[in-house]
Amino acid sequence: MIDHLPERLDLLATAEAGRALQGRMPLARLERVLPALVSSDGELQVVFELGKDPAGVRFLAGTIQGEVTLQCQRCLEPVVQALDLKFRLGLVQDEAAVAGLPDHYEALLVTGEPASVAEIVSDEVLLALPLVPLHQQDARCEGIMKDYQPSANETRESPFAVLAELKQKQP
Ligand SMILES: [Zn+2]
Repeated sequence: MIDHLPERLDLLATAEAGRALQGRMPLARLERVLPALVSSDGELQVVFELGKDPAGVRFLAGTIQGEVTLQCQRCLEPVVQALDLKFRLGLVQDEAAVAGLPDHYEALLVTGEPASVAEIVSDEVLLALPLVPLHQQDARCEGIMKDYQPSANETRESPFAVLAELKQKQP
């Protein structure tokens, strides 16, 4: 296991050689993920394993672990989302090769250029983020929902009661 994540990696050559790498990825480097985050502080623990399976498929497997802070869409306060991701990508050089990939691989299209490690991590993190982040079992957050309920009841009040209220408010 190599204790370093390079900025860019020649995936095909590394898979051919068979290598495992690990390192920390600062959240600040995940540019496409940042708009979803409340804070860019922190980092993720990333492990990449590259190799060639018995069928000759060159792959990138790995894990991403850590925490990101999102904005709760109910109370708008920060909500911490733990990440514990596993992925297994089959490296393909063109669209036609995607169909030939065994089912247990997701396809990752590789070009002649070394791939950005931050981009690969960003893709996996974006896939894992909830579409609508919400606090789970947070009394303060659910309290907002309770506060919200009575306004729904108000609309059921008799129009005469509303009229009476309006009259009282007049000077
Ligand atoms: Zn909330």
